[in-house]
Amino acid sequence: MTDYFKSLKHYILEEMRMSHIYQPAMLKELLINGGKANVNQIAKRLLSFDQAQIDYYEHRTKTMVGDVLTKKRNITKKDKDIYSLPEFDNLSEEEVKELINLCDEKIDKYIEKRGKEIWSHRDNASAYIPGSTQYEVLRRAKRRCELCGISADDKRLDVDHIVPRSKGGSNDISNLQALCYTCNQQKGNRDDTDFRDILKSYEERDAECIFCNLPTERIIEENELAIAFRDGFPVTEGHTLIIPKRHVADYFELHQPEVNAIQSLIYKCRQDLLDNDNTISGFNIGMNCGEDAGQTVFHCHVHLIPRRKGDMDEPKGGVRGVIPNKRTY
Ligand code: 5GP
Ligand code: ZN
Repeated sequence: MTDYFKSLKHYILEEMRMSHIYQPAMLKELLINGGKANVNQIAKRLLSFDQAQIDYYEHRTKTMVGDVLTKKRNITKKDKDIYSLPEFDNLSEEEVKELINLCDEKIDKYIEKRGKEIWSHRDNASAYIPGSTQYEVLRRAKRRCELCGISADDKRLDVDHIVPRSKGGSNDISNLQALCYTCNQQKGNRDDTDFRDILKSYEERDAECIFCNLPTERIIEENELAIAFRDGFPVTEGHTLIIPKRHVADYFELHQPEVNAIQSLIYKCRQDLLDNDNTISGFNIGMNCGEDAGQTVFHCHVHLIPRRKGDMDEPKGGVRGVIPNKRTY
C-alpha cells in the first residue's frame, strides 16, 4: 500500500466533510479517468446524479423523441422502457462508426445553426438559483408542486421565483417555490391565469388594518411574504407575532408559500429568542381563527410565546387553556 493511497483513503473515510455529493463524485471522475478530468467532465459527472434533470429527460425521451422514432418513423422499437434498433446486429463495426459520426455531424450543425436557443425551455427560472437553495425549497415542499400538488416522482419540479426577479423579487428562499414544469410553463406562457392573480394577491393590504400598517421600526424579522414583530400586549416577555404580508383573515386563507414564509420566521424568531435569553425553556405557538375562537385582529397571525420554568404555577395543558377549566385533564 502506497502512502498516497493511504492518504486518499484517509481523506475519503475520515476527513471529507460533505455538504453535497460533489466531493466523492469529483474524486471518482478523476479516478476513472486516469487521474485527470476537465471542468466539463466533472460537471457531467455531477449532472449524472441530479435526479430532477434525469426525470426531465426521461420524460422527454418517452413523450417526444421516443415516440417520434418509434411510432411515427418506425426506426426504433420499444419494449417496456427499452428502445432498440431492430437490425443492429446486421451492421458492421465500420457502419456503426459511420452512423455515429453522421449523428454527431447532425447535432453539431443543429447547435451551430440554432445556438443556445434550443435549451431555452430549460431556463424558465429567470435567474440562477444555487443548487443548495433548490434542494432546500424541494425539501420544504416535500417534493410536491406547490401549485397543483403533483409529486416529483411523477413530474419534474422546477424551483421558481414567486415575485419575479424582474419585479424586484429576491433569491431568498421565502421568494422561491417548487412548481412542476407544467404549472411553471403555464405560468410563464398564459396571460390570464389564476396564478397571476395569486401573484398579484400577495400585494393585498387593508388600509384599516393595524397589522397591514405596522410602523417599520416594529418589524424584527421579515422575508418576502411574512413579517415578525413583538406583540403590543405580551403574554410573556418576547411574545412575538408572525403574520403574512398579505391581508387575510386567518391561517386557512394562506397560500402554501406564505405558510412556508411564516414557518421560516417562526424558526428564526425562536432561535433569536433562545440566543438572547437563556431563561426560555419552552414555547407556545398558537393561532386564534375566528371571533369565537378568540381572534381580535382579523389579519392572520401566529403567536410565538416564549415560556420559562415557573412562569405559572401549573403549566400543564398549555394551549388547552383556551377553555380554562379544561386546561388540565
Ligand atoms: P388575537 O387575539 O387576534 O389572536 O391576537 C391579537 C394580538 O395582537 C394580541 O395578542 C394583541 O396583544 C396584539 N395587538 C393588538 N394591537 C396591537 C398593536 O397595535 N401592536 C402590536 N404589536 N400588537 C397588537
Ligand atoms: Zn391586514
